[in-house]
Amino acid sequence: TLDVEKTIKWMDDFNAEIQAQKGYLSELDTPIGDGDHGNNMARGMEAVHEALDGKEFNSVSDVLKTIAMSLISKVGGAAGPLYGTAFLEMSKTNSGDIKDLIPAGLAGIERRGNATEGEKTMVDVWKPAAEAVSAGKLTSKLIDESVEKTRDMQATKGRASYVGERSIGHIDPGSMSSGYLLKTLLKVGE
Ligand code: ADP
Ligand code: MG
Ligand code: MG
Repeated sequence: TLDVEKTIKWMDDFNAEIQAQKGYLSELDTPIGDGDHGNNMARGMEAVHEALDGKEFNSVSDVLKTIAMSLISKVGGAAGPLYGTAFLEMSKTNSGDIKDLIPAGLAGIERRGNATEGEKTMVDVWKPAAEAVSAGKLTSKLIDESVEKTRDMQATKGRASYVGERSIGHIDPGSMSSGYLLKTLLKVGE
């Protein structure tokens, strides 16, 4: 279960991972998108770091709301509003329990992006994670497998849908970054 300190630690860990994988995430976005996902996420997480650094927060919910606002205002493209809405929904649960947080994040992404499972979007990682966490069975391995499964899917939502069948054979970049987010959450929030 997250408290204020752990929530900030989660964002520090995720930020470090995003900065380290920035080039790789943009590389994943190149054949099926516009090659900016790593840069978008790196810019967003920089803003999140600035918004959290040295501040006092009264609750996990306050921290999550601040993260949401930073992502919505600083990340252009699809991922910013999607991640932003996920954090906003997480904030509304007033809970630090990953059993509440992950399903709420998924609900936000579904509400904002209107994608269902199998459309080669981050929903393909959040949905199985939400189901597994509710059953007390979420593992890093399950998250990695969900990310890998997006490789064989054809994109029918987002920019990757423009390349049609040629989206098959490449991992979805937003699923990869969602994998990093959920794995760092699992590690901090257990
Ligand atoms: P853009 O496509 O605007 O350049 P990004 O490259 O930052 O934005 O993010 C692309 C990612 O956003 C995709 O890899 C996918 O996971 C996610 N995405 C795009 N559209 C949707 C949607 N409708 N629902 C859920 N996720 C989506
Ligand atoms: Mg892109
Ligand atoms: Mg873009």
